[in-house]
Amino acid sequence: MIRYSYARPGSLEEAVREAASHPEAKFIAGGTNLVDLMKYEVERPRHLIDVTRLPGLDRIEETQAGGLRIGALVSNTAVAWDERVERRYPLLSSAILAGASPQLRNAATTGGNLLQRTRCYYFYDTATPCNKREPGSGCPAIEGVNRIHAILGTSDRCIATHPSDMCVALAALEAVVHVAGPRGERAIPFAEFHRLPGDTPEADTTLARDEVVLAVELPPEGFAANHSYLKLRDRLSYAFALVSVAAALEVEGGTVKRARLALGGVAHKPWRDTGAEAMLAGRPATAESFAAVADAVLAPARGYKDNAFKIDLARRAIRRALAQAAAGTPQSQTDKRIA
Ligand code: SF4
Repeated sequence: MIRYSYARPGSLEEAVREAASHPEAKFIAGGTNLVDLMKYEVERPRHLIDVTRLPGLDRIEETQAGGLRIGALVSNTAVAWDERVERRYPLLSSAILAGASPQLRNAATTGGNLLQRTRCYYFYDTATPCNKREPGSGCPAIEGVNRIHAILGTSDRCIATHPSDMCVALAALEAVVHVAGPRGERAIPFAEFHRLPGDTPEADTTLARDEVVLAVELPPEGFAANHSYLKLRDRLSYAFALVSVAAALEVEGGTVKRARLALGGVAHKPWRDTGAEAMLAGRPATAESFAAVADAVLAPARGYKDNAFKIDLARRAIRRALAQAAAGTPQSQTDKRIA
């Protein structure tokens, strides 16, 4: 049994003070991942700081720059079905609806989605070593069962993947994460929020232990006309991505003016490839262009014993998602059919 104390601060200042005075504290909101991890004794916090009563974090607001600011406590469901998000950022709505189940999306928060941890089997099994759970103990996934593991950005310490769908869309949309801690508030570009494993796979993000997520800010450009979120998985619902692709294009006269491309299920973080995006700009929006870009994205990929199939799967998924985006026929998430 894990013994822990519990606090439910009513202000941000109080929450930050709680974190500063309890070095082994964890913030909790929806609890859809942290409570599971506590049941498996993967996480053993001594103190829980319940942030669900912090004021002002439960709403979606327009920003002065013309974007949207989504409070950390807004549920995944509320984001996905928000009229402004559906109309201006349908890529984000689509990615959220591709993930989890309706019940989980009702409880899961925006801040928590960013901070959910890998679903690597070994990470959850405390009878096995795992560098992410216990630094220096080893990574059995590299030689072991690794069908769901990463093919890009891996290290010899960890080959885990980031499980979120929402974060893949946020990477493509160039969101910004607003956080607060004892040193004040700061804004973190989405590409810098999650990390590759390197020598320290125990750190998933660049967030300090005593910092709390306040909001995710979307820039004005939402690529509403030409986007697609394509998720490939073992079941058509309630399953993590083997490979997913967030594609967003600005197309003019059959030519790609601007492109955004991010992948899920293939790396320790949402895998955005700005080189591929630059390569697409100025090219005709054709199957040949998309195939060349897909090849470039997957060129550095490395497959392991069970997951080498992901390389070709990702290549095909990129081509398909870009074609869907260019045609303005995004992947439907409502009926769960892969067209
Ligand atoms: Fe642990 Fe990462 Fe290896 Fe999985 S892949 S066992 S999370 S170190």
